[in-house]
Order: sequence, then structure tokens, then C-alpha cells
Amino acid sequence: MDWRPLLDFVFPAQCASCNAIGSGLCNACRPTGKAVAVYLPSLRVAAVAAYEGTLRTAVLALKDGRRDVAEALGRITAPLVPGGATLVPVPTTIKRRRVRGFDGVALVARCAAAIAGARVLLALDQRSGDAQRGRSRAQRLAAQGRFACNAAGVAGRRVTLFDDVCTTGSTLRDCADAIREAGGLVDDAIVVAVAKSPHPWSNSITR
Ligand SMILES: [Zn+2]
Repeated sequence: MDWRPLLDFVFPAQCASCNAIGSGLCNACRPTGKAVAVYLPSLRVAAVAAYEGTLRTAVLALKDGRRDVAEALGRITAPLVPGGATLVPVPTTIKRRRVRGFDGVALVARCAAAIAGARVLLALDQRSGDAQRGRSRAQRLAAQGRFACNAAGVAGRRVTLFDDVCTTGSTLRDCADAIREAGGLVDDAIVVAVAKSPHPWSNSITR
């Protein structure tokens, strides 16, 4: 049974920032500036905006399991997604997925892909370990080889990584490594928001 119509009735979409009814991030609260790009050594990362203000509030609501916010974030990220692209979402830990009942990043990717005419390929799995949130920067940088990639899905194919936030870039780098080891091609990542600093591998944030 599809519970969504009932859930939408009981819990209508509501702005994560100002609580206005109608969308997970309302027109007044969504970022309006130009997209942001960050360059890691082997990856260009495009973001809707910096991880601050109302966008940060919305991303935190996504992490807490808000589907309405996932859909709104998909809509604002869609203009960054090239038509025909294959998006590979960074996987959420199994533990967190169980708590929320769904993978927030994959849902944002699905919404963005549906609008942009792209597709989503769930090619990555998290091997073990905890969610990034709450870990120190040093712990995050130390964690390597955390992702496993399904070679059959990506071998010989160009894909674009997709995540909610790029903080140090270490997660995207690990995912890109896993995809390349499986024979896939990846030069680009799309994220909803990018932390302004610090990025150990690069510093060219452009507007
Ligand atoms: Zn709002």
C-alpha cells in the first residue's frame, strides 16, 4: 500500500527553515546565488551553495529523515545535473537508513535526476563504520577504503557522484577511488552544499 497520500495529508510538506507549508524548502528560504564549484585533485565538485544558513538547516533536516525536504533539495539541485548523466549517490550507513526508513541522499538524487532527465545508479555500498556526522576531521580523513563498488554497474561507464554535503572532500574521494577501482570513470561530483573551509586538497571556491 502506498501511504504517501495519507502521509502528505497528515504531515504536509513544510519548510525546514521557516515552517511555511507547501515545500521542504520554500522559495523565500532557498539559495538564490550562482552555483559553487570546488576542485579536488581528481574531482570537480559542483554545489548549489555554501553549507550555511537556510540550506544548512535543510540538509540537517534531511539527515533527520525529512522526505519533503529531500524532494525540495532535489528540485534545487536538478539544474546542476546534466541531462543523460548517471548519478551514483554516496550511500548512507545501514544503521542510519534503518533509523530513517530511507536513504536521504539517494532520494534527493532521484528527485534531481527525474527533473533533469538523468538516471540514478546505486553502485556503492558502505563497508562498515559510522556515519560521518559527529566524527572528528582527523577521523574522517583517516577513514579510507570505506566503500565497495559494484563493478558490473560502472565498468567502462562515466558516472557523476552525488552527495548532500562536501566537507573535507574525503568521502567523495573515497567513493571516486572505489568507482575507478571497479573500472568506472568519474571526474565530477554534485552536492547540495559545500562547506566553505577547510578543504585540504583545494581551495578554489568560485562563485
Ligand atoms: Zn522557508
